[in-house]
Amino acid sequence: MIYDIAIVGSGPAAYSASIYASRYKLSNIIFGKIVGGTISEAHMVCNYPGLQDISGIELSAKFEKQAKDLGAGIAYESVVDIKKVDGIFHVYTDRNNQFEAKTVILTTGTERNKLMLPDEEKYLGKGLSYCATCDAMFYRDKTVAVVGGKNAAVMSATMLSDIAKKVYLIYRGTELLGEPMWVDQLMARKNVEIILKTLPIGLEGENRLERIKLSQPYNGEQYVNVDGVFIEIGSEPDGLFADILGLEVDGKKYIKVDQTQATNVEGIWAAGDCTTASNGFRQVVTAVGEGGIAANAIFKYLSKRPR
Ligand SMILES: Cc1cc2nc3c(=O)[nH]c(=O)nc-3n(C[C@H](O)[C@H](O)[C@H](O)COP(=O)(O)OP(=O)(O)OC[C@H]3O[C@@H](n4cnc5c(N)ncnc54)[C@H](O)[C@@H]3O)c2cc1C
Repeated sequence: MIYDIAIVGSGPAAYSASIYASRYKLSNIIFGKIVGGTISEAHMVCNYPGLQDISGIELSAKFEKQAKDLGAGIAYESVVDIKKVDGIFHVYTDRNNQFEAKTVILTTGTERNKLMLPDEEKYLGKGLSYCATCDAMFYRDKTVAVVGGKNAAVMSATMLSDIAKKVYLIYRGTELLGEPMWVDQLMARKNVEIILKTLPIGLEGENRLERIKLSQPYNGEQYVNVDGVFIEIGSEPDGLFADILGLEVDGKKYIKVDQTQATNVEGIWAAGDCTTASNGFRQVVTAVGEGGIAANAIFKYLSKRPR
């Protein structure tokens, strides 16, 4: 079978693309091992219209169910290669399966940069988060730390200072590199302490994160006690398919798309966090918007070709 669309990735952008595609009667298959993609990591999603306070896992299950009910093919496999042969895309997976499709939508998201500390994964969702926008509200009147020193970290620390009792900003550099206006705003907060020239070198706690070990003592202490830590040291696409397929990317390997989510390569669209679209605002609402736009563009594209 030759699918109309191969959708690579299984996050919000993928399901939205699939749902729209199925309703256009375009056959489609979604590739990915993590149902819901990154949003499945969110303890609670509180900003998706119509579904107030839903866990990331529940939202992911709903996305998948809707796509499946409408007829999407689902392959719980990772795509390892894509080749275009005589106008048809050959999609190869890590289970040695091969699929064919007339078009491709890449929705591969990004990977949060990690501190690379031994217990980092263990504390994910148990005091450790890579998304302050998403999880800040769980730390009302608590003590938190933000790791990083650029805009994302400075903005996160500022936002957290409105919610948490105390915020430490831990940064390895000698000065914060965020936009001056954001830095000024942060400096004015009375409940924020900035720890410069310091790196977290360990995470500790019984069942959840309780303290961070620092590379050098701060106020005479090697540890800061916290209820939570937000790692805000960036997030980037892996760039795999951009390299393989010759897609145009920006300096950080985000795939360049036009307003229809089309890439520079005919037959390939991209949607969600892996792209340069939506003004760099990478959220579920933008991912699902872009997925829908890509499916709509493919519907128009395929309508002009013999089926
Ligand atoms: C902890 C956390 C909480 C968040 N909370 C919120 C929130 O409350 N509200 C909000 O709007 N946003 C939130 N976000 C952001 C939101 O998760 C993302 O903006 C959204 O998931 C992007 O969707 P996407 O489909 O573009 O990519 P993703 O959700 O990242 O999905 C991409 C998927 O593709 C898979 N993939 C990658 N390469 C391949 C391959 N080669 N083959 C197969 N599969 C592949 C990845 O493993 C991943 O599962 C949160 C993020 C995090 C980390």
